[in-house]
Amino acid sequence: MTVRPLAEADFTAEAPVLVVGGGACGLIAALTARDAGCEVVVLERDPVPSGSTALSSGFIPACGTRFQASAGIEDPVALMADDIQRKNGGQADPAIVEAVCRRSGRTIDWLAERWGLPFVLLDGFLYPGHSVRRMHAHPERTGAALLGALLNAAEAAGVDIVGNARVSALYADTDGRIGGVRIERPDGGGEDLGCQASVLACNGYGGDPAMVRTHIPEMADALYFGHTGNRGDAVRWGETLGGEAVHMTAYQGHGSVAHPHGVLITWALMMEGGIQVNREGRRFSDEHHGYSEQAVSVLAQPDGIAFNLYDQRLHDLGLGFDDYRAADKAGAVRRFENLDAIASALDLPIAALAQTVEHAARCARGETTDPFGRDFTGQPELQPPYYAVRVTGALFHTQGGLRIDADARVLRRDGTALPNLFAGGGAACGVSGSQVWGYLSGNGLLTATTLGHIAGEQAARLAAEA
Ligand SMILES: Cc1cc2nc3c(=O)[nH]c(=O)nc-3n(C[C@H](O)[C@H](O)[C@H](O)COP(=O)(O)OP(=O)(O)OC[C@H]3O[C@@H](n4cnc5c(N)ncnc54)[C@H](O)[C@@H]3O)c2cc1C
Repeated sequence: MTVRPLAEADFTAEAPVLVVGGGACGLIAALTARDAGCEVVVLERDPVPSGSTALSSGFIPACGTRFQASAGIEDPVALMADDIQRKNGGQADPAIVEAVCRRSGRTIDWLAERWGLPFVLLDGFLYPGHSVRRMHAHPERTGAALLGALLNAAEAAGVDIVGNARVSALYADTDGRIGGVRIERPDGGGEDLGCQASVLACNGYGGDPAMVRTHIPEMADALYFGHTGNRGDAVRWGETLGGEAVHMTAYQGHGSVAHPHGVLITWALMMEGGIQVNREGRRFSDEHHGYSEQAVSVLAQPDGIAFNLYDQRLHDLGLGFDDYRAADKAGAVRRFENLDAIASALDLPIAALAQTVEHAARCARGETTDPFGRDFTGQPELQPPYYAVRVTGALFHTQGGLRIDADARVLRRDGTALPNLFAGGGAACGVSGSQVWGYLSGNGLLTATTLGHIAGEQAARLAAEA
């Protein structure tokens, strides 16, 4: 049973706040609670936290930060909220969108000023759907570096992180008040820990193939690129407690994973002029709609394969990204003197390929328009030598989850809040609406960081009152 009666618990230790999961959401929740003077324990199923956060690119969208101010960028909350809602067709709860956007700048500035996390504001290109530059990243531009910096901060703050501690059940009274959790150890041992408040930061269900097949069958056979330990526990617990899982069909896909190398190829290449063609040498979509929905478009092509096609200028841009350099080193990125060479090496029909590239060039020159609706003007046409990468579509993380309020409290079906249970990051319903195309770049770490901040603050307040 995933939720057990409180009367069955045999607590061997207690902490005011227990956080389940040690990714960005859990660590930020813990840092926030510590900042409020509250003792907090993070329970993590892995020996050392990594989560999807460490696998990610680590790009966090935020508005009104001091990094944007230094770059002369104005980014009011309403602009960011509009970008998010435009992408998802207005499907996300406006109160949550407003809450995470409003909190986003504060979270980044606080992480930088209070905990010394180094951030840079990404430049050189805009991610699809963002009106201004608002992606913040660790200078190394990797999620592993972001997670490492959060772990260092947590250590400095005195956060107790317990590894090899899979939370297998919550203990609750009949009111839904959480009294503690059950942890299971890899050696089969276990322990009950008590708390005043608890934060679910154990992400979504991408690591549970049966749940993926149920909710997003189109991705059931696709590569899963996220953390395999994220198995939908938060949703199961929350539903048992009377909570509601919403937008379970939503997820972040990616249409640009080098195949068979399994390395992410940055979408900046597409945003700055690159194109995707299928085995027939034809484009099949507007690459600027977003990389998430492009996963589905790529998987719908013959053999579920596409080729990213670009040139030296874009190759040089890609080399600024850790993943891209890794792909290059692994031999996924191939250089060709001309289109004939691409066609013969990759077995693409030369006539169709040449026509596709020429059509994109005419679009870039403003001589014609793209039938898929992409605006090619503003970027130079592709020039030889060319570069090509064989890619496929993948599932990165799920976006559906527990319905929460703007204080990150888990809500019951009737809209009332459970007394002392909070959720953030992939454990909570995101701000992408119900479909893959609703994901605006960065929605994942946006809700992980901001809801972690909000949940940690609220859980600490509740624990102090108790
Ligand atoms: C390749 C890739 C690239 C990405 N790039 C970006 C990006 O640039 N920007 C962006 O915004 N988003 C990105 N994302 C999405 C982003 O990684 C996630 O949205 C974000 O990391 C979620 O953070 P989290 O803290 O909720 O979950 P996680 O970081 O996954 O942490 C959850 C933790 O909970 C632990 N856990 C699970 N169940 C239990 C349990 N029962 N008991 C104890 N512990 C448990 C897990 O082991 C894990 O450590 C990317 C995702 C992938 C896969």
